[in-house]
Amino acid sequence: RAKADGRNTHRFFAPEMAERLKSFHDLKLGLHEALRQGEFELHYQPLVCTGESGIRGFEALIRWRRPGRGLIRPADFIPVAEETGLIGPIGEWALREACREAARWPDGIGISVNVSSVQFRDKGLVESVRRALADTELAPGRLELEITESVLLQDDDANLGTLRELRALGARIVMDDFGTGYSALGYLCRFRFDKVKIDRSFVANLPRCDGSTAVVQAVAGMGRNLGIVITAEGVEEQSQLDAVRRLGCHEAQGYLFSRPVPAAEVPALIARLRESG
Ligand code: C2E
Ligand code: MG
Ligand code: MG
Ligand code: MG
Repeated sequence: RAKADGRNTHRFFAPEMAERLKSFHDLKLGLHEALRQGEFELHYQPLVCTGESGIRGFEALIRWRRPGRGLIRPADFIPVAEETGLIGPIGEWALREACREAARWPDGIGISVNVSSVQFRDKGLVESVRRALADTELAPGRLELEITESVLLQDDDANLGTLRELRALGARIVMDDFGTGYSALGYLCRFRFDKVKIDRSFVANLPRCDGSTAVVQAVAGMGRNLGIVITAEGVEEQSQLDAVRRLGCHEAQGYLFSRPVPAAEVPALIARLRESG
């Protein structure tokens, strides 16, 4: 019977595992090639003030234009990049590219760059941010670094140290996807983030869901009391924008304003958002 089980196991699981291994290797080789050939690009999605003052900046979102396979989203390659250590050079490229692009935009417009937890724990991060700012001559106050709650789970003192060093460079520190992880509320006491982005899973349920309404209102209230900018992610409908504005969020981001666009479309998008107020 053991033998039969063994065969079954073999028949049902081995091909699947082999496939996964093959696609992992295929992605790993592809990512090496992408770095060498410059196949990554950044798209930019606006962050808009819920009050009067219009556009505040853009979030840089990476894409991989893989020959013969179209445009690949980060969810389909960032995990492999993290597992293989390639997130280091990829993240560094994204940081420099975003700063270089933003340095050409009007002064009041900021740029947000996502930093993976693997990248965050790397000793070289502070130095690459310092160099990106120096080389592109972007005013440090225009740069925001987005990290997720998962970054903050271990290594308390080391993480706090890194956050403080990044802030000392003049960059602003943003907690991304707030509410999806372990809700590092304690961290909000120990380190004063400049901005907290409420995950779109809460915004998606507005305006009708009582639970999401209460969460968004509570986070906005905390932001008011602590002087933290609160951004609502994933705003797709006018009714959601009305709700997050009413609940006290300062900023909104989502398809209602624009999808992420290539760099060449940024100036026209700034003009359109300034016109529509
Ligand atoms: P994120 O930082 O939370 O970025 C927001 C994601 O939500 C983006 O997905 C964006 O396209 C999407 N989004 C924006 N507005 C809406 C909306 O109204 N509705 C819906 N359904 N989605 C919306 P994207 O570009 O696929 O990026 C996914 C994640 O990949 C990002 O989540 C971020 O964690 C990661 N990522 C993106 N670029 C980079 C990068 O350069 N470095 C690193 N380490 N991670 C990155
Ligand atoms: Mg982000
Ligand atoms: Mg986010
Ligand atoms: Mg998110």
